[in-house]
Amino acid sequence: MTETVTNWAGNITYLAKELHRPHSLTALGDLVAGSAKVRVLGSGHSFNEIAEPGPGGVLLSLAALPDEVDVDTAARTVRVGGGVRYAELARQVHAHGLALPNMASLPHISVAGSVATGTHGSGVGNGPLASAVREVEIVTADGSTVVVGRGDERFGGAVTSLGALGVVTALTLDLEPSFEVEQHVFTELPLAGLDVETLETVMAAAYSVSLFTDWRAPGFRQVWLKRRTDQPLPDFPWAAPAVEKMHPVPGMPAVNCTEQFGVAGPWHERLPHFRAEFTPSSGSELQSEYLLPLQHAVDALYAIDSIRDAVASVLQTCEVRTVAADEQWLSPAYGRDTVALHFTWVEDTDAVLPVVRRLEETLAAFHARPHWGKVFTVPAAVLRGFYPRLDDFRALTRELDPTGKFANTFVQDVLAV
Ligand SMILES: Cc1cc2nc3c(=O)[nH]c(=O)nc-3n(C[C@H](O)[C@H](O)[C@H](O)COP(=O)(O)OP(=O)(O)OC[C@H]3O[C@@H](n4cnc5c(N)ncnc54)[C@H](O)[C@@H]3O)c2cc1C
Repeated sequence: MTETVTNWAGNITYLAKELHRPHSLTALGDLVAGSAKVRVLGSGHSFNEIAEPGPGGVLLSLAALPDEVDVDTAARTVRVGGGVRYAELARQVHAHGLALPNMASLPHISVAGSVATGTHGSGVGNGPLASAVREVEIVTADGSTVVVGRGDERFGGAVTSLGALGVVTALTLDLEPSFEVEQHVFTELPLAGLDVETLETVMAAAYSVSLFTDWRAPGFRQVWLKRRTDQPLPDFPWAAPAVEKMHPVPGMPAVNCTEQFGVAGPWHERLPHFRAEFTPSSGSELQSEYLLPLQHAVDALYAIDSIRDAVASVLQTCEVRTVAADEQWLSPAYGRDTVALHFTWVEDTDAVLPVVRRLEETLAAFHARPHWGKVFTVPAAVLRGFYPRLDDFRALTRELDPTGKFANTFVQDVLAV
């Protein structure tokens, strides 16, 4: 069967002319064992060639496997299959009176693909989504299964692994009691006079906080506060309450956005920005994101402001979030409390790339680690300097994938192998 396989945004067309969709774990193991080069495609929401297996390689989807979501209410954990998306996982977890600690902006992304790239939401106390993972089950190069849990010395490399260790067929995640969230939107937070202390107070004003700007003027057009109803209602003197429902991209209708105006609702219907029932099958956008130490956030924002016209020329929206430090060796939030500066660009790669390069030059002084799943041009040699445990990750790939079956060009560049 010949097909054209692309990512969600359509800016990457994979070389493989077939997306293999095994129906059982046995068939999956046989396919992996019998192939020279393999990569998994999750829900395809990355914007670069991280999932590309290379010429002649096998591109594998877990979408035809049973959608396993197995909640253990007593242990407060959930075992989730490698192809399941957050929207479905969240719905079932909530039905058991439990919750995930956090979610990304879009609920349609796969769990395994998200934690593989260090995907995150926001919140000064919230680590990346991978921090909820307690155990990972991986089908390795010879088709056998390895289970790595917290406490195993290999765990720091096993979750945010860029898909380089094997096929993640299941993950076990920590849960907590279900909670409700209200979303309050404010408008026009000025950049002038913003200092480190104020920014940190703003970002800590609720469980999850996002600032949005189009950089057409200094400052932020919107502030989204996601308040847990079991936490105090913040006083928020820095911006004015919105008078209508808002979409992060100025001028777009808010109909697909999660409920605002302080209407309380279940965690999974407020923590993402976009509703689960609205499923965009493809996207007219590109994305980049840079994660840097939180203490550099204000300097980095002023630096971006200095190239604001160039950024604004290809920008749909920029989002500022915080991520608590985590311990996954290849996590962009590894070892440091982080500010994440996200850019949704127009879908014109040729126009966007020069701006991405200029932005990266501007942020270079702040040790900005790019999001693994988004557009970036930071040279691999520079990336390697950002990850102090890279040698440990290399050793783990040699142990689990000695022939480099899962090492595509993207991963080989990063690992320098
Ligand atoms: C509209 C939109 C909103 C987004 N919002 C956010 C956000 O709020 N925060 C954020 O941090 N990021 C965000 N992202 C980025 C996104 O979360 C990442 O690109 C993430 O990797 C997507 O998961 P995926 O399954 O689509 O991954 P894919 O692009 O399919 O794959 C990513 C990597 O994971 C590997 N992989 C996937 N599944 C498996 C598996 N079962 N076993 C082994 N390896 C696997 C792939 O081989 C590849 O290396 C967003 C992207 C889009 C398009």
